[in-house]
Amino acid sequence: MRTHRVDVLVVGGGAAGMAAAASAAREGAKTLLVEEGSRLGGVLDQCIHPGFGLHRYREELTGPEFAHRLREDLRGADVWTGQSLLEVEPGRPRARTVGAAGLVEIAAKAVVWAAGARERPLGALRVPGTRPAGIFVAGLAQRLVNIHGLLPGRRALVVGSGDIGLIMARRLHLEGVEVTGVVEIRPYPGGLLRNVVQCLDDFGIPLLLSHTVVEVHGRGRLSGVTLAEVDGSGIPRPETGRFVEVDTLIISVGLVPEVEGIPFAPRDPATGGLAASTRLQTPVPWLFAAGNCLAPFDLVDTVATLGERAGTAAARYARRGLSPAPTVALGRGPGVAVLVPSFLVPGEEVTLYLRASLPLAQARVTVGPDGFGRVVRGVRPAEMIEVRLSPEETKALARSRNVTVEVTTLR
Ligand SMILES: Cc1cc2nc3c(=O)[nH]c(=O)nc-3n(C[C@H](O)[C@H](O)[C@H](O)COP(=O)(O)OP(=O)(O)OC[C@H]3O[C@@H](n4cnc5c(N)ncnc54)[C@H](O)[C@@H]3O)c2cc1C
Repeated sequence: MRTHRVDVLVVGGGAAGMAAAASAAREGAKTLLVEEGSRLGGVLDQCIHPGFGLHRYREELTGPEFAHRLREDLRGADVWTGQSLLEVEPGRPRARTVGAAGLVEIAAKAVVWAAGARERPLGALRVPGTRPAGIFVAGLAQRLVNIHGLLPGRRALVVGSGDIGLIMARRLHLEGVEVTGVVEIRPYPGGLLRNVVQCLDDFGIPLLLSHTVVEVHGRGRLSGVTLAEVDGSGIPRPETGRFVEVDTLIISVGLVPEVEGIPFAPRDPATGGLAASTRLQTPVPWLFAAGNCLAPFDLVDTVATLGERAGTAAARYARRGLSPAPTVALGRGPGVAVLVPSFLVPGEEVTLYLRASLPLAQARVTVGPDGFGRVVRGVRPAEMIEVRLSPEETKALARSRNVTVEVTTLR
């Protein structure tokens, strides 16, 4: 096996990886980005709707346009597409890769993990019934329609009202598929309010809250599903079951951070995402992380910013081999479903990205015993809350062993 030597290896060529590779190269590091797909862009390439880049470029771009801008910045980094990372060694930054460049071992000084997230499949829902053709995760359906020009079916139901499900409901409708509805187990939609309005309300697509699919029917091809209402604990009420005739079921029930190939890297127990500090450094000092492999982010602008930060930190680590800065662990307290990062560096400014467990009209985000944080109106689990703490505040938090972050309702 051939060995290729670099300073910084970036795994994944989506928004996070491209931003990381560009910033590592700008820092003067010999940088290599490996992407298993045939093109750079990651999920952006199939997101042909607008809504990207408002923060970063102050323009409303489509996903491919946003990806194009990041690709333009990539000068200075080497890029291998069609090359998959198989595994990274636990004890040192050496990785085995396979693909268009052959079987290549990459010896790096630092690694940035930016492998994105994968979709939860129907199996994760444990729905009984047959497994006929016609059941797709939303990202696959999006790829079929937007990249390959193929329709997955004629009459569809979407399970899950997160942004991806909402966007796919609209996309299929615009392509002439009869979308019978979007089913959501929770009593509130999972996606951004603007997407509920622009993707469902504007096209008369029904949103069925507190409903789920309880059975799949069909041999060969899907013939329909049974829907039922759920009670307050999410348990289906069998007496409400009704058959809906569809030939296509689109599953959009969440993303799981992609961490295959680095089983030794510590993860957040709630999300399975990589645990990293505000510098995007994991407890494995040479391993940095950015993007949806930390936790699924709403906005690509945030993903690109974190990618840049991770790339810069990895390049500096590769140059100086610094040991990690002392960190304070951040814990999820009541009301917090997702929290990035997992550690803060005392004395350095930090932006916390968190998702609340429940929608709240007005809430207070509290960080640590001194009650740093802020009041937020209109809290929705679909929308990440950003809380910035000053260097003085993070320095004060160093006095505590563990710092918890809480979201509590304000009446
Ligand atoms: C349907 C949809 C709609 C969205 N709409 C918006 C929107 O309107 N506005 C907005 O700002 N954001 C939106 N987002 C969010 C945003 O696009 C994503 O959060 C962001 O693009 C994720 O970037 P990433 O680099 O973390 O992951 P990805 O884009 O998933 O990139 C990860 C890359 O890593 C590669 N990879 C994985 N494993 C390996 C391996 N072992 N070896 C080599 N390569 C590997 C993958 O092939 C992939 O290219 C949307 C996302 C989706 C899915």
